[in-house]
Amino acid sequence: MYDALRRTEQPGARLHDFTQCGKHAYVFQSVQEPDLYTLGGSSCHDRFCLPCGRERSRIIAGNVKLRVDGENARFLTLTLRSDTEPLAELLAKLTRDFTALRRTKLWRKRVAGGVAFLEMKWLEPTQRWHVHLHALLQGRYIPQDELSKIWFQITHTSDVVDIRIVENQDHCTRYICKYASKPLDHTVVVHPNKLDEAVLALKGKRLCLTFGTWRGYQLTALPENGEWIQLGTLEEIITRAEDGHADATAALDALKVEYAPSTRAPPTVPARTVSSLTLGQKCFSYSPDTERDLAVSGTLFVNGE
Ligand SMILES: [Zn+2]
Repeated sequence: MYDALRRTEQPGARLHDFTQCGKHAYVFQSVQEPDLYTLGGSSCHDRFCLPCGRERSRIIAGNVKLRVDGENARFLTLTLRSDTEPLAELLAKLTRDFTALRRTKLWRKRVAGGVAFLEMKWLEPTQRWHVHLHALLQGRYIPQDELSKIWFQITHTSDVVDIRIVENQDHCTRYICKYASKPLDHTVVVHPNKLDEAVLALKGKRLCLTFGTWRGYQLTALPENGEWIQLGTLEEIITRAEDGHADATAALDALKVEYAPSTRAPPTVPARTVSSLTLGQKCFSYSPDTERDLAVSGTLFVNGE
């Protein structure tokens, strides 16, 4: 993926962020419930980054589930028959035809709203791009044959549509996670020139779209889960735990992160009292109450100087 981003001359900052994704892990502590800890990572948020894509799809699936809220929903797959057209052309047609479908009487009568995701594959045996649109719909029953007929009238080439009811919440989550995580699957990734074509064809293109009553719904909004304070990087907390600091061992025990426990007794150094200061000196004092080193930096003024 990185090679494809380089070959297609993506900005240096994007390449840099892509290579740095996940390099750092941070430990956070809940303000409301101090016994709760969590790990956070540095993320690149690139649409072609697999770990970031998985994270994004989990958030989207959570928000979709919240919105569906146990109501009836249906999955729709629209297929576009292809020949030797470039991918960009097929994607433009699919988007255009899907807009046309949403304007039909059948759609307006039966679909209230929903969310759609793009999927593309490169099929080596046929040497063709295959594009699909996967949507989750809310509304009334739609007869498959009627939908197929209308899709053919719009596309002039394709009548393949699949529509089915969502069986349960897990079914819904699995479906959304599958299609919201990655627009490109392995059939594209293994062909460097096809991968480059996909990177360029998807430039500026939205991979998911909300419509009808769902328009404007924030699919990637993070769930509200209180306030968190960052205690430090994971490495820093491990070092502190190995030195026997109780705040760090509590965090790592809660997170089930392994470390080599100190064989020494926990530090018992009392807080140092700084009696004389020099201008610009950095002071560190250890607080036995919070088991933390308090760092004070900056310019200090002593005796009015
Ligand atoms: Zn990433």
